[in-house]
Amino acid sequence: MSGDFTLEQKRYLEGFVSGITAARATRAKPGGGAEVVKGPDAEHFAAQDAVIASGKKLSDQEKFKREEHPFDAYGRFKEQADANQPPKPADNFRWRYFGLFYVAPTQSSYMCRLRIANGILKHWQFSGVADVAERHGGHYAHVTTRANLQIREIEPKSAVAVVEEIQDLGLCSRGSGADNIRNVTGTPTAGIDPQELLDTRPYAREWHFHILNERALYGLPRKFNVAYDGAGLIPVLEETNDIAFQAVEVKEGFGAEPGLWFRLALGGITGHKDFARDTGVIVKLADATKVADAIVRVFIAHGDRTDRNKARLKYVLDAWGFEKFLAAVEEKLGAKFVRVPPEAVAPRPAFNRAAHIGVYPQKQAGLNWIGVALKLGKMTVAQMRGLAKISAELGDGDIRLTVWQNLLISGVRDENIALAKAAIAALGLSTDANAIRSGLVACTGATGCRFAAAHTKENADEIAAWCEERVALDTPVNVHLTGCHHSCAQHYIGDVGLIGARVATNDDGDTVDGYHVHVGGGFGPDATIAREVFRDVKAEDAPRTIEHVLKGYLAHRKSADESFL
Ligand code: SF4
Repeated sequence: MSGDFTLEQKRYLEGFVSGITAARATRAKPGGGAEVVKGPDAEHFAAQDAVIASGKKLSDQEKFKREEHPFDAYGRFKEQADANQPPKPADNFRWRYFGLFYVAPTQSSYMCRLRIANGILKHWQFSGVADVAERHGGHYAHVTTRANLQIREIEPKSAVAVVEEIQDLGLCSRGSGADNIRNVTGTPTAGIDPQELLDTRPYAREWHFHILNERALYGLPRKFNVAYDGAGLIPVLEETNDIAFQAVEVKEGFGAEPGLWFRLALGGITGHKDFARDTGVIVKLADATKVADAIVRVFIAHGDRTDRNKARLKYVLDAWGFEKFLAAVEEKLGAKFVRVPPEAVAPRPAFNRAAHIGVYPQKQAGLNWIGVALKLGKMTVAQMRGLAKISAELGDGDIRLTVWQNLLISGVRDENIALAKAAIAALGLSTDANAIRSGLVACTGATGCRFAAAHTKENADEIAAWCEERVALDTPVNVHLTGCHHSCAQHYIGDVGLIGARVATNDDGDTVDGYHVHVGGGFGPDATIAREVFRDVKAEDAPRTIEHVLKGYLAHRKSADESFL
């Protein structure tokens, strides 16, 4: 077995000679040769084998996955933690399967990202996360743009303790990083929203547990997002996900049973300038998990495992077209999809861009949710414990996280609203936010992420502080700051979107934090990719630049309803 083959190619040939083909997944044996892979990992090995057989190179991350499945390496993970050792690159990728990201050089510590189905947890779980952050982290946590919680500044020696203590709370962090299906989002007001078509919680929960307990659904070609929108008042940005399930009312006379269905949209990834597109398919509510499973399995078999930039579902859809992809999913399902024309779907109720902050009546008479403004998602552990106490004593005990980096306390009786607001204010938090603060979103940025070209959270705060004094906005405006092309804060869907850039200050190659500025993005019915209007704006000049953009919008719009589009 010699020649100019790579090690992986030789291993493939060894397996081939002994009668193993790419259709029967193989893996190298520690002592040499190859063995057939059976069970849940087989679909992944078969896809990787097909790449190797074609003469292409697997990406490094695919090699890491092939060499050792992270869930088979918990012992090694514990050994590293006991020795307080930071992980090498391959293990830094693997431990993300447990939700841990080692974020050096920006911070020589781990960040732990949880997973919380539909973004809703109990008050005691929320205060328990505060306890974990206090024992092992930086004494604070963030609400993320996937309605999730993150704890930062965790030393390597505490990594396993954090993962296990989160599980003690009935929560988990499993699969929240690397090439896995990320936190399952749903309408944050599910079950309490006066206008919702559907309570998304059971569907998000079913998919959450399906993923957690199905090993074959870990280790995809790339990360994968799924969202459930029940048509409530607060948008969940489902069109930015790989799979978007939208609750819709289907009318009579179009060949499908009239009533409530999920409309299926696929391929959202706004960092690559694409929203999930309507497939024309409607899915029975009870079939959502089955359909999502089949879609993911087609992606596992056919997603790109050689080029990380082309490894998302969008690229399979672009290469194949929707019809071929849907036919492959139907084959997996063993059933045909139900399709309806757009006019078969009744218009959906409109969302309210301000409903995640402040007091709103629930569909249950006499009860309300209170949206709490958080400064770019950050809360101290003391604030978290205070919010948990308010939820337990004045609310229904639920804490509801939103994709707008804030949270809701639900089930507050009319007579307790003033008291709850005063208690939130006593924590140094607000239930009011002006038009710029309520739509301000920023990713982690250079304080905690090595990819960032700018300090997004700090700069976002500076922009808001400058503009709120100088621009009289009378309508919510979304300003999104993202530190790099990964676009965690989805700058392309903001009315104003900033993406980090190193800006030259001289000809010697010196640079400072800065941004390229985009305007005119939108979401929901206004889904539009923002277009670039300024390049290489220094961070120190960004507040003035955004002030001019906002004043220009106010001066030239024809009415208060007119967006930036
Ligand atoms: Fe880091 Fe880039 Fe994501 Fe910001 S957008 S958190 S800089 S990866």
